[in-house]
Amino acid sequence: MAVIHVLDKHTAELIAAGEVVERPASVVKELIENSIDAGSTAVTVAIVRGGVGSIEVSDNGSGIEAEYISTAFVRHATSKIAREEDLAAIGTLGFRGEALASIAAVAKVDLLTRTEADEYACLYRQAGGEELSAEAAARPVGTTITVRDLFYNVPARMKFLKKDTSEGNYVSDVVLRQALAHPEISFRFVRDGREQFHTPGDGDAMSAIYAVLSREFAKNLMQVSYRQGVLGVEGYVTAPIACRGSRSMQFFYINGRQVEDRTLMAALETAYKGMAMQGRFPGCVLNVTMPLERVDVNVHPAKTEVRFANTGEIFDLMYKAVKSTVSRPDAPQKRLDLS
Ligand code: ADP
Ligand code: MG
Repeated sequence: MAVIHVLDKHTAELIAAGEVVERPASVVKELIENSIDAGSTAVTVAIVRGGVGSIEVSDNGSGIEAEYISTAFVRHATSKIAREEDLAAIGTLGFRGEALASIAAVAKVDLLTRTEADEYACLYRQAGGEELSAEAAARPVGTTITVRDLFYNVPARMKFLKKDTSEGNYVSDVVLRQALAHPEISFRFVRDGREQFHTPGDGDAMSAIYAVLSREFAKNLMQVSYRQGVLGVEGYVTAPIACRGSRSMQFFYINGRQVEDRTLMAALETAYKGMAMQGRFPGCVLNVTMPLERVDVNVHPAKTEVRFANTGEIFDLMYKAVKSTVSRPDAPQKRLDLS
């Protein structure tokens, strides 16, 4: 007969961590979100060997007070929400209090942080969820988190990682998606010691697009700025004439959160019906702004899936925003000469 028993804490922790930390790119996504939530204006991401060697995310945000550092590593410990009602209107990227706990459960983590009120920074070291040391150190206000030996204690997960180059490409994708969503923050991405891109952080969405995507893509964009009551869509879409053979350049955000969403994608493409050739797809960098309580972001640990209170309303909004843009008389009619 099967014996039913509760798993030991360590095993349960590894299972929970597996939902949040799938690969180096998921670590980077969580760390960048924390930097953004901390009010940073500059974020540097540096990886070695696709992030499998090491991941370092450094910001100039609020920092963490020394007395709260160890709490930040406890599962379900967060400074972003406090009670049940708060789940109905989440205004930060993080809220689950799971990232640091999950990362620390499957890697070696150093956290160096200093707040405005501190005279010294604090260097806090963890491995496999165990605190190793905490000591005084130096750095300007902000936080640097270094993650090494990812999955060193989870060989099953380690086996499923792809080649370093592929893992590095996933990381690159995560950083560029966040950089596109936050032109007010300067993002620098360094891969094996070489700078890949650097956004100016001047608040202009187009300068972020130029910094991380191709010139060719940036040149063929049309600006979208659409409002419908409390809902809005801002950003850029590809001119119909410049649509391409793949969907790889579609970047959607809800209130600054990067999302994967079929409704938004369908609405975008429907708006190009009859304007773009069959089998050609628009690219976009579009942010939907809407009241926090009309979108549920608490759907999946990775937080890229959302549920709308009214899906039809969002389809309609996106369709009209894009349609009114691409049918403007100033839409480029012929391929621009790029020479
Ligand atoms: P969540 O982001 O859901 O709150 P995390 O595990 O990602 O959970 O982080 C736990 C807490 O640690 C955060 O709520 C925040 O208070 C603090 N924290 C983490 N990273 C940073 C950072 N880069 N700057 C300032 N505070 C941070
Ligand atoms: Mg977080």
